[in-house]
Amino acid sequence: MNNCLFCRISAKKIPANIIYEDSEAVAFYDINPQAPVHVLIIPKKHISTSLDITDEDNVLIGHLFRLAGQIAKEKGIAERGFRLVMNTNADAGQTVFHIHLHLLGGRQMHWPPG
Ligand code: AMP
Ligand code: ZN
Repeated sequence: MNNCLFCRISAKKIPANIIYEDSEAVAFYDINPQAPVHVLIIPKKHISTSLDITDEDNVLIGHLFRLAGQIAKEKGIAERGFRLVMNTNADAGQTVFHIHLHLLGGRQMHWPPG
């Protein structure tokens, strides 16, 4: 999708600080980090929100979670802990309508979240 920011990042039409890429997914640093480690993990396939995930995406979604764990290990935050977030629609504060897992870590997280 040409008008989707994260489709444009995955197509390299917009620069991003990409730390991982394969045929199905891309991971890059969030431009406005909320923690010492704040990485976004996205599928290359355009899916607008978590509500638009279908059965055919089951393997893809599993892949995103496994990548998140792999990156957490690489960044040295896996043992201490980290948070994975997928905001969905307005009340959750979703601003980019191409699903992305936020990988947040490197500091104590609070619960409940804001
Ligand atoms: P959400 O609010 O859950 O939709 O998350 C969107 C995230 O994308 C926010 O944390 C933004 O800081 C981040 N973001 C927006 N534009 C860019 C960009 N060009 N490169 C990297 N991250 C971005
Ligand atoms: Zn997209």
